[in-house]
Amino acid sequence: MTDSNGTAPASEKGVPPPQATAILHRTSWKPPVAVSAQGIYVTLDDGRVLVDAVGGTAVACIGNGHPAVQQAIKEQVDKLAYVYNMQLSNEPAEKLAKILIDSGKGAFELCGFFSGGSESMEGAIKLARQYWYERKQPQRKNLISRHLSYHGNTVTILSLSGRPARREPYEDILQHENVHKVSPAYAKRFQRPDESEKQYVERLRQELEDKFLELGPDTVIGFVAETVVGATTGAVAAPKGYFKAMKSVCRKYGALLILDEVMCGMGRMGTTHAWESFGDNEPPDIQAVAKGLGGGYASIGAVLMSKEIADGILDKNGFWKHGHTYMVCPHRGYLVVSGVSDVSTQAHPMSCAAAVAVQKVVQTENLLENGRQTGEYLGSLLRERLQSAGAVAQPFVFDVRGGGSFWAVEFDINSPSVKKVDLKGKQFAIIVQARCMDKGLIVMGMTGGANIKGTEGDHIVFAPAYNITRKEVERIVDIFVEAVEEVLMELF
Ligand code: PLP
Repeated sequence: MTDSNGTAPASEKGVPPPQATAILHRTSWKPPVAVSAQGIYVTLDDGRVLVDAVGGTAVACIGNGHPAVQQAIKEQVDKLAYVYNMQLSNEPAEKLAKILIDSGKGAFELCGFFSGGSESMEGAIKLARQYWYERKQPQRKNLISRHLSYHGNTVTILSLSGRPARREPYEDILQHENVHKVSPAYAKRFQRPDESEKQYVERLRQELEDKFLELGPDTVIGFVAETVVGATTGAVAAPKGYFKAMKSVCRKYGALLILDEVMCGMGRMGTTHAWESFGDNEPPDIQAVAKGLGGGYASIGAVLMSKEIADGILDKNGFWKHGHTYMVCPHRGYLVVSGVSDVSTQAHPMSCAAAVAVQKVVQTENLLENGRQTGEYLGSLLRERLQSAGAVAQPFVFDVRGGGSFWAVEFDINSPSVKKVDLKGKQFAIIVQARCMDKGLIVMGMTGGANIKGTEGDHIVFAPAYNITRKEVERIVDIFVEAVEEVLMELF
């Protein structure tokens, strides 16, 4: 029940306080309302303009208001907004599928579209399971993922995610029997002092192999990991050789490598796929992408798969037994209708048209190169201003890391070398995020990552648009450093 303004009725005992909004926001705090945006600048209903340094959550990879994308969306809505016919494909979907498949340079054969990251990961897992089912290995029912990971919020995918704060209320309804965890690949926190990088990778490889052996190697569907970890630890790349080593274990026992590039993919690391940005260059068998695919102009994700997986699903006129109203299944030859009557080719034309336009902008404006250069500049400025001798923040900064347009600053507010302060139940990263917002800067403050339980650790993520300028980078760093210094000086 709400009044005419959409306001909830007066608070009763045990009922949340009234809010001036009918949306269930994550907290009872009502966020400011955005009314328009251009590039990385977001205008609020009170006239304030914010600088978005994280593209929402690593989504708005070309910023808001790009005329080429606006035009493509307008043209598409005039031509074809929506069809749902089990025997129809549509032009934008075919184009987008071709762009994605070509981007894999032989790694991928087909793709399927979804509405976002969690759905794409769900699709990836169901695809992997069906692959083994069709290959007459139905005993493969175990998945191995990692602690300190995030793959999304649907029940199955949250089960894979090693992110305790998100899991807690749902723990009893998550899947435990078929989902198993190994250590994260996070050298700065978990590599032992007496261990070389190579030895650390070998320890992680051995742990995965031991897990396979414990479960029974022929019961494992695959190993699931974010190529570069996003939300839980903030732009943490695996040590050199890690994915090669993990893939070798999968190959030894015939299991699949499933990469989650929802956040770190589609150019975020300065290469189209994040796995291309390491020396290893190890493509997965199945991969999910989302955020940067539609750049925020459309709600869209995709699952990409190798020829082996596509063959496994589609051989003998088989079909992927999965789909949603808006986003569904792959066909032989990208999405082309194969003549098999019970296979659908649905992919939302509007979302696909927007994503095609975003990907064209990234290509024609050479934005991966710009993202790499401005990202390096962002990283170097953050290091210079936060970690150099005499910087106010220096004793509190644990790490500045990243690559491409994906960076994070991790603080060590509980370090023994730092005086203990009472944060009054608040998380340091959230205090900094709020102070940045007060000063007109949007960043993403996250907690967890300093221990395997995810109960400690504070980091701030930067994931700006790839077309950001050096001047904008300087402005972001200026505001951020000022906010951090203010908060630290008030606390310590
Ligand atoms: N996978 C990763 C690595 C993510 O970072 C996220 C979201 O942040 C997801 C999956 C879930 O995507 P969505 O929020 O679009 O469902």
